[in-house]
Amino acid sequence: MKITVIGTGYVGLVAGTCFADTGNEVVCADLDEKKITSLNQGTIPIYEPGLSDMVKRNVKEERLLFTTDIKDAIERSEIIFIAVGTPSDEDGSADLKYVLAVARDIGTYMNGYKVVVDKSTVPIGTAEKVETEIKKHTDRKFAVVSNPEFLKEGAALDDFLRPDRVVIGAEDEQAIKIMCSLYQPFVRSGKPILVMDRRSAELTKYAANALLATKISFINDVANLCDVVGADIEMVRKGIGSDSRIGPRFIYPGTGYGGSCFPKDVQAIIKTAQDHGYNLDIIRSVENVNRRKKTILLNKILTYFDNTINGKTFAMWGLAFKPQTDDMREAPAIDMIRGLTDKGAKVQAHDPEALNEAARIFEKQVGRDLFLHERRYDSLEGADALIVMTEWNAFREPDFHLIKEMLHRPAIFDGRNLYNPKRLHDMNIDYFSIGRPSPNGLNGHSNGRITEKVIEKSVA
Ligand code: NAD
Repeated sequence: MKITVIGTGYVGLVAGTCFADTGNEVVCADLDEKKITSLNQGTIPIYEPGLSDMVKRNVKEERLLFTTDIKDAIERSEIIFIAVGTPSDEDGSADLKYVLAVARDIGTYMNGYKVVVDKSTVPIGTAEKVETEIKKHTDRKFAVVSNPEFLKEGAALDDFLRPDRVVIGAEDEQAIKIMCSLYQPFVRSGKPILVMDRRSAELTKYAANALLATKISFINDVANLCDVVGADIEMVRKGIGSDSRIGPRFIYPGTGYGGSCFPKDVQAIIKTAQDHGYNLDIIRSVENVNRRKKTILLNKILTYFDNTINGKTFAMWGLAFKPQTDDMREAPAIDMIRGLTDKGAKVQAHDPEALNEAARIFEKQVGRDLFLHERRYDSLEGADALIVMTEWNAFREPDFHLIKEMLHRPAIFDGRNLYNPKRLHDMNIDYFSIGRPSPNGLNGHSNGRITEKVIEKSVA
C-alpha cells in the first residue's frame, strides 16, 4: 500500500518506518526542514532503540522517504496518517491547530479517494472536525478514521510491531477493510483489531492514559503515606502487585509522571468532561497528587540541608522523563533543576541520551548554574549530594565507594528507589528514597518525628 505520514516525530517516524518494514511504500512528511534534512542524511533526530537501523534499511530498500513537500506527499498515497503534536492549550484542552492545518492541506491537495487517519491523540469529536475541515476544500470522496497510538517511547518499535491491540474507529466500510488489511502483519500472534465508532476510539486512548496515570499517582500517594507512618512502599508494592486482580506492572513509586503524553492527556480528558458538564473527580485527584509528588524529593533535600542550599552543588543522574529515550517533555528532572537553581544551588547533570535536549531547554542556564556531563562520575566532582531522577540501567550498580569519596556529605536522594537502603547505611552514606524508611531512621519527610531526626542530624 502507499502510505503518507504527516508529522515525523516520535509517533510518525516510528509508525512510518514500521509500515515500510512490512513492505508498504511510505512517505514521511514534516514542515521541519532541519528534521527532514537530517533524516535524508541518515541521522535520526530522536533516540529510540533500534529505530536508526530500521530507518536506514527501509530507506536503502527504497520503501521509505522523507520530504517537506506536503502537497506531493498527499498526492502520492491513498492512506494519510495525521501524526502531528496535540499540545495542551492554556485551558488544558488539546490544541488542535496542527491537526486542523494538516486537514486543510489534505482537503486542498486531495487528488482521489483517501483514507485520512487520526493517529495523534485527539479529543472526542475530532474526527468530525477533521472531516468538516477537509470538506471545506474538496468535493472528492474520503473517509476519516480514528486510530490512536499506544506505543511507549523507549520500547516504541516493539510496541508498534507487536501491539496489545489495534483500535480502529471508523464507520466507512471501505476504510475499515483497508485499515484492517494494513494492520494484519502486526497482529499475527492473535492480538485483536478492535473496530468501533470513532468517538469510542478517541476516548479509548484518553481513558487508557488516564488509568495508567491513576496507577502511578495511586502508588505515589501510598508511598507518601509510607513515609509518614514508617512503612516500606517496596514491600507494600509487592504485596498488592501479587494479587492477580491488581498485577505488578505500573505500580512503581517515583517522582511523579512526566513525558509528552500523561500530563497533557490527563488535563485534556478532565477538560473534555468539564465541557460536557461532568466532573472527573478521580482524574482530577490524579493530577493533584502528581503535582505534589514532583516536589517531594526536593522537600527531602531541603529538609536535609536545613533549608539552605544556596551555594551547594548537586550531581544529578537522569534527565529524560524515563529510561531509553531522550525525551524531556514534562520530565520531573526539569522541576528539580528549577527548584534547586532557584534557591541558589548548582546542578551537575548526566544522562546517557538527553544532554542535547537539556542544553536546548536550559540554554540560558548551561555554564552558569547547570553543567552537563557526558560521564556520570564527572558530575560528582565537588558535589554535596547525588540525586537520581531516571532509572537508566547504567545507574543501578554504581561504584558506591567512589561516590562516597567524591561527595562532600555523602548523601544520595533517589527518586526511583534503585538502591538498597541497608547497603548504603552500612557504608555510612545518608540515603533517601521514595516511601522507604532508612535503617538509620532518616526519610526526610517534612512531617512528624522522622523529620526531627533529619534536622537533628543536619545540625550535628
Ligand atoms: P512530536 O512533537 O515528536 O512530532 C510532531 C511532528 O509534527 C513535529 O516534527 C512537527 O514538526 C510536525 N508538524 C506539526 N505541524 C505539522 C504540519 N502542519 N505539517 C507537517 N508536519 C507538522 O510529537 P509526537 O510525540 O510524535 O506525538 C504526536 C501525537 O501522537 C500527539 O498527539 C501525541 O499525543 C500522540 N502520541 C504520542 C506518543 C509518544 O510517546 N510520543 C504515544 C502515543 C501517542
